[in-house]
Amino acid sequence: MRVAFLGLGRMGRAMAGNLVAAGHEVRTWNRTPGKSPPGARECASAREAASGVEVAITMLADDGAVETVVGDLFAALPSGAVHCGMSTISVQLSRRLSQEHASRGQRYVAAPVFGRPEAAEAKKLWIVPAGAADALARCKPLLDALGQGTFPMGEAPERASLVKLCGNFMIASVIEMLGEVLTLAEKGGLDPAPVAEALCKIIFAGAPIASGYASRIAATQFEPAGFSMPLGLKDVSLAMKASEALRAPLPLASLLRDHFLASLAKGREEWDWAGIAAIAREGSGLPPRRG
Ligand code: NAP
Repeated sequence: MRVAFLGLGRMGRAMAGNLVAAGHEVRTWNRTPGKSPPGARECASAREAASGVEVAITMLADDGAVETVVGDLFAALPSGAVHCGMSTISVQLSRRLSQEHASRGQRYVAAPVFGRPEAAEAKKLWIVPAGAADALARCKPLLDALGQGTFPMGEAPERASLVKLCGNFMIASVIEMLGEVLTLAEKGGLDPAPVAEALCKIIFAGAPIASGYASRIAATQFEPAGFSMPLGLKDVSLAMKASEALRAPLPLASLLRDHFLASLAKGREEWDWAGIAAIAREGSGLPPRRG
């Protein structure tokens, strides 16, 4: 399939490489040039990358970044082509993209992903797509080349965006909880690594996402970032925006938001979002990282 891939950050570069490996004709565009994976054709603009393709994938940081390319996508995508948005964006933007593409005879599928850059590299992402059935069918071979499975959420793309925000709110809550309990255990004289392993086996049945964050937090290994602190703040803020629009309070989200803000106020822009665990450590008198 002829595909455009816009956004070659920590996730996008590996994903575009997997589409090349699966035999697709991939044209890429990134704000900062020179990040295209081998075998893809790097284009000078999003418009050039998207002209004449069957599917254009966006894997950009946030709503603002996606807004910078949508004009090019509206102009360049042929009638019937699909914009497959894989970034984590707001429910509101997802809904607007769906309407605006439809008004031009194009289709929009939201297909946000779960999994860090290592999972993207290993084609182990979990993908939550939503969109019209024929548009989802068009995207299927691409999603199959990127992940280990999909959980379709129906026809309305904004529903997939909402599920992704729910999921990241869950992960951020787990990170916060792990930061607090592993600090408590360490203050009680325990080595947090075996505590993390035991509790994740007992309570989460060894779930990879919880176990991965538990060992990272136990080791206070917050750099380099797989999912950055500013993106963590973005997702909790988007979950709060959705909660406000739907009148469904998320009291924990306010606490998480403040811990992301405090981390950024301390200059931790480059840390992984697991680094909010350092706020619990500091609150108990421990240094942010183990010596
Ligand atoms: P990243 O490494 O920070 O890359 C961000 C990408 O967006 C880069 O291609 C960057 O271009 C581009 N970008 C940022 N601001 C832009 C702007 N104003 N205009 C145009 N391009 C802009 O982010 P990532 O970790 O790959 O995440 C990408 C998306 O996937 C985000 O929505 C994130 O929430 C989601 N996600 C991430 C993970 C993860 O573990 N990392 C997991 C699941 C979902 P430059 O190269 O020029 O900076």
